[in-house]
Amino acid sequence: MRTIERREKRNGQHNDLQEASQLNLVEKVFSKQHTPLFLALTLSLIALLFSGLFIYIASEKSSAYERIHALRQSAAIKDQLIKITAQGEARLHDLRVAIVSSNPISETNFRIVSQNISQRNPYIKLLSWAPLGVVSRIYPLGLNKNLLASQVDLGAVARLRRHSENLIVKIEADRKEQTSLIMNSLLQAQDIKQLSNGLLSLKIDLYQYLRESLTEHTLPFVVKERYRAVNIFEEGKLDQSNLDSLESIYFYASDVHWEVHTQIKTEPLNDLNLNLNWALALLLALLIGGAGYRACSAYQQSSVDVQAGAYRANFDLLTGLPNRYHSSRKLTECIEEAQREQTDFALFFMNIDHFKHINDQLGSGVGDAVLTEVSARLGFIANSNDIVARLSGDEFMLVARDVDDVIKADLLAEKIKKVFHQPINFSAQQHFITLSIGISMYPIDGEDVHTLLHHSDQAMHESKRAGRNRHFFFNDSMSEQAETYLAIHEEMLRGLKAGQFELYYQPVLNVLTQSVDYCEALIRWNHPNRGLVMPDKFIPVAERTGAIRDIGNWAFSQACRDIREFAAGDIKLKISINHSVNEYNSHRSFERWESILSENFVTGDQFIFEIPEMLLIDKKSVRLNVVAAMRKLGVQFAIDDFGTGHSSINYLRNYPADIIKIDASLIASMLTNSMDRTLVEVVLTLSKSLGKVVVVEGVESEAVAAALKKLECDYIQGNWFIEPKPIDRVIPYIHQHMFHVEEQNALSINQ
Ligand code: C2E
Ligand code: MG
Ligand code: MG
Repeated sequence: MRTIERREKRNGQHNDLQEASQLNLVEKVFSKQHTPLFLALTLSLIALLFSGLFIYIASEKSSAYERIHALRQSAAIKDQLIKITAQGEARLHDLRVAIVSSNPISETNFRIVSQNISQRNPYIKLLSWAPLGVVSRIYPLGLNKNLLASQVDLGAVARLRRHSENLIVKIEADRKEQTSLIMNSLLQAQDIKQLSNGLLSLKIDLYQYLRESLTEHTLPFVVKERYRAVNIFEEGKLDQSNLDSLESIYFYASDVHWEVHTQIKTEPLNDLNLNLNWALALLLALLIGGAGYRACSAYQQSSVDVQAGAYRANFDLLTGLPNRYHSSRKLTECIEEAQREQTDFALFFMNIDHFKHINDQLGSGVGDAVLTEVSARLGFIANSNDIVARLSGDEFMLVARDVDDVIKADLLAEKIKKVFHQPINFSAQQHFITLSIGISMYPIDGEDVHTLLHHSDQAMHESKRAGRNRHFFFNDSMSEQAETYLAIHEEMLRGLKAGQFELYYQPVLNVLTQSVDYCEALIRWNHPNRGLVMPDKFIPVAERTGAIRDIGNWAFSQACRDIREFAAGDIKLKISINHSVNEYNSHRSFERWESILSENFVTGDQFIFEIPEMLLIDKKSVRLNVVAAMRKLGVQFAIDDFGTGHSSINYLRNYPADIIKIDASLIASMLTNSMDRTLVEVVLTLSKSLGKVVVVEGVESEAVAAALKKLECDYIQGNWFIEPKPIDRVIPYIHQHMFHVEEQNALSINQ
C-alpha cells in the first residue's frame, strides 16, 4: 500500500514538473515584458556614469590647464622682472660711462645724459650722482632738490656691496605707489680719479614699469620681495589666504629674492556649464536607454513569438501534453534507445469512451475538463521517463519504458482503468468516464513509430468492439498469456493471504564435520485444486508480475519464525533464503527485510540470501546497495546456481558474496564427463583460494559425495543426503543425523 502511495506521489511530482515547465514558459513570456525596461534603465545608468566620468575628467583636465596657465603667467612675470633688472643695469652702465667720460661731470652734462636716458626709459624716476658719498647731481632736480648735498648712507652701501661687486639693488616701498627699485653702482676707484669716485643711483618706478610691461597678463597676480615680504606690485583681486589657489615662482635676480604668485582660476567650469553638461549627459542617457529599450523589445517580441510558435507546434494547448508531432519524435528517440540497449517497452493507445456524447450533451466546457483530467491522471500514473501525449481529440498515448513484459503491461492497463474508477468533478457534478485501451509491444508488434501506433490503434478499436472499458493487446496470444498470468498472479496473492504457501527445508551437510550448519528454505504452494505446486511453476510468473516481492517477504517472515522453531528443537543453524533479481530493485526491500528481522526478534547473521549471479553482474547501484546494507546486518550472501549463467571466474574475487553454490547440472555428469569434472575442480580450487565457501548442490549419489570430499568441497546438498522436507520432518531428521554422527565419532575414538 505504502509502495503504491509512494509511486503515486512520485508521479504527482512528475506531473508537477511537467506543469511547472509549462508555467515556466508562460512565466518567461510574461517576465520578459519587464526585461527591456530593465535593460533600458541599465543602459541609461551606464551612459550617465560614463557622462559623469567624462564631466569629472573634463573638469579635472580644465583645472590642471588653469594651473598650468597660472604657472606660465608666473614664469612670464619672472622673465620680465629679470629683464627689468638687466635693463636697469644697462642704464647704470650708460650713466657711468657718461660720468667717467666727462670728468668731472658738469651740471649740464649730467642733465643731458640723464634726459636722454629718462626719455628712453620713462619709468626711471630719479638719477643721482654722489661723488665721495655726497649727492652733487640729481635729475630731475625739481622736488628732489632737497636731496642735493645729502649724505649717502655709505655704511648701507658697504653692507650692500658685500652682496654685489659694483651694483647694488635696493627696494623701497614705503608706500605702495612709490615702490621703486634703486640700483646703485660704485665707480671703481682704481679706474678713475679720486674726485670722480662716487655713488651712482637710478630709481626706477617699478610699479609703473610693471604696469606698462605686464599688461598682457590676464590672471590676478602679485610680485613680492621675498625676505621683506613687501608687495611690490599687485594686479587684480587676489586671494592670498589660500596658497593652494596660487601658482608661485621664487627666484633671485639682481641681488633680490623675488616671489611671484598668480591666482588660479578657481571655477574652471562654472555652474551654468556644469548644469549644461549634466543635462546633456542625462539626455544622452535617456536616448541610449530608449534605443536599448526599443531594440530589446523588438528582439524579445520576436523570440517570444518564436517560442510561442514552437510551443504551439509541439504541445497541446489545453492539456499541456506533447501533441502527435512532438510525441512521434519522442517515440522515435525511445525506439532508438531501446535498440541500443536491447530493451522492450509498451505503447498504450487510449480513447475516452463516449466522449462525443459528453461533448454534445454536456457542452464543450465539460469536455475540456474531462480531457484535462485524463491527461492529469495519466501523468500521475506515468513514470518520469515515460511519454504521455494527446494524439488528437480524445486519443491519448502512454509509452511506458519500464514495461518490458506483457504481464507488466497487463498490470499497468489494469491500473489505468482503476485510476478512472474515481469520478471527475465538474460544476458540482460527478462524471464517470472509461477508457478503451490498445497495447502494442516493442519490438514484437512493430519496430517503428508508424507500425507501433497503427497496431495499438487497431487493438484499441478491438477493445471498443468488445464493449469498451477494457484493454487488448495487438497480439492475440499476448492477450491470452497476459490473461493466464494475471489469473495466476491474483491467485498467488490470494493464496498468500489464505496461507497456502509453505517452506520446505533441505539440510546442507558440512563435509568435514558431518554437521548440518544450515538449511535451504524452498517454497511450496499447497494449491487447493492442483495440489503441491513446485516453485518452477509459479516463481517465474511471480517474477514477471511483480508478485515475487510479496512472496519473498512472506518466505523471509516464515523463515524467521522457523528459525525460532529450530532453536526450540535444540537445533542451532542458519537458514538460506532464495531471492530473485527483482526483489533488489528498490531500497525499500532493505527497509522491509530489516523490519521483518526486528519484528521476529532474530538477527541478520542467522541468514544466508541466495541470489543469482546476474544480480551482481548487472552492477546496478540500487541492487548492490541493498546487498551491502544487508551484509552490514550480518546476512551472508551466496551465489546460487554457479556454472549455469555467466560464471565469471574473473569477477568472482570482487563479488560481495561469501558462498558459491555450484549448480547441480555440473555435478550430475562430473563422474562421467571429464570436462565437467575439471570445471568443478577449477571452480572449487579458485573459490577456495579466494576465501569463498563452496557448496555443491544436487548431489544424488554416494560416489559423487565421495569424489567431492576428495576435492575438499566444504558443503554438499542433495537428495543423497536428504530431500527438501517440511520443518516438522526436518527437525527429527537432523536430530537423528547428529545422533548418528556422535555415535560414529565415539566409535572412531574407541577404535
Ligand atoms: P535452487 O535454489 O537451486 O534450489 C535447489 C533446487 O534443487 C530445489 O528445487 C531442490 O529441491 C532441488 N534439489 C535438491 N536436491 C536435489 C538433487 O539431489 N537432485 C535434483 N535434481 N534436485 C535437487 P526446487 O525446490 O524445485 O526449487 C527450484 C528453484 O526455485 C530453486 O532452485 C530456487 O531457485 C527457486 N526457489 C525456491 N524457493 C524459492 C523462494 O522462496 N524464492 C525464490 N525467489 N525462489 C525460490
Ligand atoms: Mg537456492
Ligand atoms: Mg541452486
